[in-house]
Amino acid sequence: MNELKPCPFCGGKAEIQQFANPQNYYCVRCTDCGCSTDGYRRSKTESTEAENKAANAAAWNRRTEPENVEEVSRRYQAECNYDHAVEDRDALRAELEQLKPENKALTVEQLRKMDGEPVWIVLLNIAKPVSCEIITEVCKDGIRTVGANGNDYASFSLYEKTWLSYAHKPEGSGNL
Ligand SMILES: [Zn+2]
Repeated sequence: MNELKPCPFCGGKAEIQQFANPQNYYCVRCTDCGCSTDGYRRSKTESTEAENKAANAAAWNRRTEPENVEEVSRRYQAECNYDHAVEDRDALRAELEQLKPENKALTVEQLRKMDGEPVWIVLLNIAKPVSCEIITEVCKDGIRTVGANGNDYASFSLYEKTWLSYAHKPEGSGNL
């Protein structure tokens, strides 16, 4: 019997498969993408098994433009590579997302340990842009800060009521 040509669509390996019922029906199927000859129109029940196989092999091997097979195969391959690239990029993006430091509002306990460090202060009751302030003193009831607008004091008793603070600039807070 003739050697089976590679799949015209994906270049995959082809093999002859026997139908379970009726048993003397055969088709040629690509082991990779699964496309196949129909196995019926090209093979008749009254034919011998060898003839059925040969008829399907001939149908499978028929190429209208043999020179295009390589091209289709190459294009398919290129698309496969593109999909992988997209997957890789998405995976990379997810990984980067995980690496970003989580920017949750600081707790009072965390603020108490941040003497001398910068914090981003968000005022909740006044429409004012967030400001980066340096903590100059951690007091019992609040923090003293210095920033672009001079010295300030923020009370812990009002924390989360009138103000919040972050270790990194909160997202979507715009420019200073
Ligand atoms: Zn195929």
